Amino acid sequence: MLPDEELLERRQRVLGRNAPLFYERPVHLVKGKGVWVTDADGRDYLDVYNNVPCVGHCHPHVVEAISTQAGILNIHTRYLHETVVRYAERLTATFDASLNSAIFTCSGTESNELALRMARFRTGGEGVIVSDFCYHGNSKMVAELTTCFPVPEAFPAYARKVPVPDPYRDRQGMSDEQLADHFAAKVAEAIASLQAAGIKVAALLIDTLFANEGLPELVPGYAAKAVEIVRKAGGLFICDEVQAGFGRTGDAMWGHQLNGVVPDIVTLGKPMGNGHPLAGVITSSDLVDEFGKVANYFNTFGGNPVSAAAGMAVLDVLEREKLLENARMTGAYVRAGLERLKEKHAIVGNVRGSGLFFGLDLVHDDADRSPATAECKRLINLMRDRGVLISRIGRYDNILKMRPPMVFAKEHADILLSTLDDALQAL
Ligand code: PMP
Repeated sequence: MLPDEELLERRQRVLGRNAPLFYERPVHLVKGKGVWVTDADGRDYLDVYNNVPCVGHCHPHVVEAISTQAGILNIHTRYLHETVVRYAERLTATFDASLNSAIFTCSGTESNELALRMARFRTGGEGVIVSDFCYHGNSKMVAELTTCFPVPEAFPAYARKVPVPDPYRDRQGMSDEQLADHFAAKVAEAIASLQAAGIKVAALLIDTLFANEGLPELVPGYAAKAVEIVRKAGGLFICDEVQAGFGRTGDAMWGHQLNGVVPDIVTLGKPMGNGHPLAGVITSSDLVDEFGKVANYFNTFGGNPVSAAAGMAVLDVLEREKLLENARMTGAYVRAGLERLKEKHAIVGNVRGSGLFFGLDLVHDDADRSPATAECKRLINLMRDRGVLISRIGRYDNILKMRPPMVFAKEHADILLSTLDDALQAL
């Protein structure tokens, strides 16, 4: 095994000095099981960050499905294959009846790129509205819409940003209803601004949980009003479920099912194949058929027989192990523990999240809510040193991001909570 220092140096040389890497002391992982990962020295870490291995690292049922299918046939996607069709049927059955068709891809980026192309095709519009702190991927069109970090491409003339309604930071005396109205008014303003520039809106594209934005506690009805305005202007509603999907919130299979609006297009990714690169777009068969006539969309690897077997196995485990129920129950337990930590540690300004997706907004002072960015960075490194992997998000990078594999149980929650208590004490 290469020593970490040598591995890091060689990585930088061959993958670039700026290839992203977590933690001041990067973790050199060699294996994983369930909610645990192990480093090159044999030290175990509790994984409270990764949603990609959504049913647990190296789940035996998923490993078996992948390896069995890999030993039978893997090929591109222009042949008949039963597992692919059965998987698409089973997956689409978890959505509203209007969302009955799937196109498979290999990444969230590809899914969002395709969704935007489809929205433009359907509406004849070009305009896109996104949040003012978003990330939806890294192809040209999707990358230039990035608002949560600088990118070399200019923010495009066809796009507009709307502020995310975060009740903790942006309420300014507004009731829940007023906050929802405020978001809708911002969307209306964006549409008017596009129209003034001669651009018709094609889509409102949002992450249903606003995960990268900082996981705000969304007010009821915020989406319905905004979407009504978008649809009136001839645009579509695209929900990015790359982080929110596959039961993460515990209350529903899809994040959008919690806000009572059926989207026109849904994009999927990360957890879909438990680490196998599988992603997709879900929409109406009508749109898929019409778009297919002109676009001849073909994705060499997207939804091949091995990917479909992986995706099917993920759905099996979600059902068999009742992982949505687990997300609800364990999630409520973690949330209660985080609320206790808020009472104990003044730096915790706000607890957010549901199911198995949590955030703690760290502040210097709860009155002015000045973000404790440097402390947040230190804290995730203190947690890493104590054997628990988490990260941070949000406009000020001051929100702890906790989003473990969904086999996270009470015993793991206890480790997370006691380690967090200890690390907050050590800050
Ligand atoms: N959408 C969201 C909300 C994401 O968080 C990400 C990745 N972090 C993507 C899309 C892009 O997915 P991928 O990296 O698979 O292209």
